[in-house]
Formats: sequence, structure tokens, C-alpha cells
Amino acid sequence: MKAITVEPKTRGSARFEEVPEPDVHEGSVLVEAIAVGVCGTDVEIAEGLYGWAPEGKRRLVLGHESLGRVLDPGPGASLRKGDLIAGIVRRPDPVPCPNCAVGEWDMCRNGEYTERGIKQIDGFMSERWRIEPGYAMKIDPSLGVLGVLLEPTTVVTKAWEQVQAVGQRAFWQPRTVLVTGAGPIGLLAALVARLHGLEVHVLDRVESGPKPDLVRALGATYHTGTVAGVGFEPDVIIECTGVGQVISDSLVAIGAGGIVCLTGVGAGGKAIGPAVADIGAAVVLKNNVVVGSVNANRRHWYRAGQVLARADHAWLARLITRRERPEAFAKALHRQPDDIKVIIQFAEA
Ligand SMILES: [Zn+2]
Repeated sequence: MKAITVEPKTRGSARFEEVPEPDVHEGSVLVEAIAVGVCGTDVEIAEGLYGWAPEGKRRLVLGHESLGRVLDPGPGASLRKGDLIAGIVRRPDPVPCPNCAVGEWDMCRNGEYTERGIKQIDGFMSERWRIEPGYAMKIDPSLGVLGVLLEPTTVVTKAWEQVQAVGQRAFWQPRTVLVTGAGPIGLLAALVARLHGLEVHVLDRVESGPKPDLVRALGATYHTGTVAGVGFEPDVIIECTGVGQVISDSLVAIGAGGIVCLTGVGAGGKAIGPAVADIGAAVVLKNNVVVGSVNANRRHWYRAGQVLARADHAWLARLITRRERPEAFAKALHRQPDDIKVIIQFAEA
């Protein structure tokens, strides 16, 4: 079979090549790939900036936003041939740490977790893949190819759970949410906040393309410009850009008792804006919490499945702005201005 593979930490090493069939030790469920979403992490791995090959191997099969069809459910599984599934990405560390020991591998304490398509386990960009039954998430069949959005949705369902957990520290009745960044994570965060009945605002740089209409179609308000320019003090900010200026502006703009949840991973930039002690003083005086959120455990995957099944499928379909064949993977890994979610399609859903 063929797969999209990379030699991690080696720029320009990605290729669509012949590889052995997936080994049965990777799981008893055999799956035919339908589609795999592409995200910034895949681009970083292909550029040689990130990623780890499986032990004893030089190359890693790329891809962690999976959608596949069960070819063989294997013995004793509740899955059936033909079921649509997505594969959970992270596996607990082998020690395991206390959080991994109770199934909260998203909160891993020692960093020794592994991740499909990223860290030491082959990913899903292969014509066939295998998975352990406990890490296969069944997808509502009405979603079809939209099931490829499950993994990015898990990022958002975890972030929202974190915000709610923090909110419970006091009497908490949030009304307004600001989402910074209208990429796939930002738009899905806006969707989840709307499903919770909140007044949602989304801030992004672009003034044209599909993003403003997608936000308005949710019944949310689209803004361009700065965080300060949105003109209100949000109860919750879901930060999805990772841009230093946006993060620092968010810490200033958040309302009293408000929660800033950081989901974007950036780096560098210039130290501008208020001094750290001034931001700290504002956080103290307004009882703010800044909480980071990464990855997702099985509970968040389950909730993400519920979110997608409930969402307007026509709206979800507009998030997938480009589909490429596996042999054109290089095009999929190259960002274009109007891209929201680009997928590599291996087969029809
Ligand atoms: Zn752990």
C-alpha cells in the first residue's frame, strides 16, 4: 500500500511511497482511509521542525486528523465492517504518570506520551491503517466525510471543558465569548460556544473570503482589527492564534472574573504591550484565570462527536475548503490564503 511519510527533523523529506501493510500489533481493527485533515503541526513536521519516528525506524507515516471505514473489526470488537471511525491520537506514557493512569493522557505529566502521526507512532495518511478498538471513535454515519473534523473538534471540546471547570470556582454566569482567530479551531470554538447559548464574537485579520460569512451563519459577530477594538469586556476568551500581541491584548481585555483559554501555540515575536507586572496586577484585581489547553482524552472525543452530529452539516461542509489527492500531498501542505481546513482524500466516504 502507499502512504505519505516523512523523515522527522529533515526538511523536504515527505513523499508518497510504497510501505508495508499495517502491522497487526498496531491494533486489531483494520481500516480503509477515507480522508485525513492537514493542520499546522503536519506542515511543521514536513518542514523538519517537529516529529519523531517510531523506535527503530527512520520514517514516520504523517497524519493525525483521521477518518476511515472499518474493513475488518477484528475479534470481540463492538465495531462492524463499514462503520466510519476516527482514531484517537495520543497514547498514555508507559510509566504511566498519575493522569495517564486514569485515562487523562491529554494531561500527561512526564511528556512520555506518544501520538499517531506526530510522536513515535505511525499516523493515518496511509491507504489502510490499524487501531486498537479502545482508541477507535465511531462517527455518526450522517456526517460522512465531515467526520474528518472530529479531531480538531476534540481540541475545542477539551478547551471548553477547562473553561467550565475553572468557571465553577465561583458563581459564574458567562454571557459573552470572544474567539481570537477564525481558522478551523476558532470556528469550531465559536460553534461550541453558540451551542451553549452564548453571545459569540470572532476576531480575525481577514476581511474577505469565507470566514466572515461562516461566523455570521452561526449567529455570531465577526470583527477585524484589534482585541481592544471589539468594544466590550468578554467573560471568556478562547485564544486560537498563538500570536504574542493577541495573547497580551486578551489578558488586558478580559472582563472581571473572566477566563482566558489559550489553545494556539506560537513562538517568538516582540515583547510589546504592558509590562508583566501590570498584566499580573490586572489578573489579580479582576480574579482572572489564564488556562492552557492541549490535546484531548476519550471523554472529549465523545463530546466532539456529539457536537458534530448536532451541528448544521452544511455549515461544517463549508469548513473543508480544499481536497487534494494523496499524490498531491505537497499542495495540501502548502497554505493558501482562503484555506480553512484542507483534507487529503484517499477514498469516497
Ligand atoms: Zn503521562
